[in-house]
Amino acid sequence: MARKPNTYSGGCLCGNIRFNVTGKPTFPHLCSCRMCQTWSGAPTVAWVEFPLEGVSWTGPGGKPSLFRSSQKTRRGFCDQCGGTLAAMDDGYDKISLTIATFDEPSKLVPGKQHSYRKSAPDWLKVEIDRAAK
Ligand SMILES: [Zn+2]
Ligand SMILES: [Zn+2]
Repeated sequence: MARKPNTYSGGCLCGNIRFNVTGKPTFPHLCSCRMCQTWSGAPTVAWVEFPLEGVSWTGPGGKPSLFRSSQKTRRGFCDQCGGTLAAMDDGYDKISLTIATFDEPSKLVPGKQHSYRKSAPDWLKVEIDRAAK
């Protein structure tokens, strides 16, 4: 079946948690806060937001497990492989998904925003090719 415009899919390392999202992706950005780093194991995490109502969890594991990482934020992960997939703020109508877990991560290009850049390791140099598609 052909992919509809503005429909994306992705999932965790083991495939237990899979998602489809529809709607307009917003605020693609990088975050190097210490929470993102220690949650993912990566020096920076690429995020993108979608309308919460546009997400369906399609893998055999259903919804990701949730960890409350701060007063208003829960982070979603696979409890089988540990894959780091999502973040949701209480009362917010969008979900953040990790761009690298999409099946076609090249289609979601981070914008200028690099949150907590100063928390990234000194050796990390990030260059984003915004012309890439
Ligand atoms: Zn998994
Ligand atoms: Zn962060």
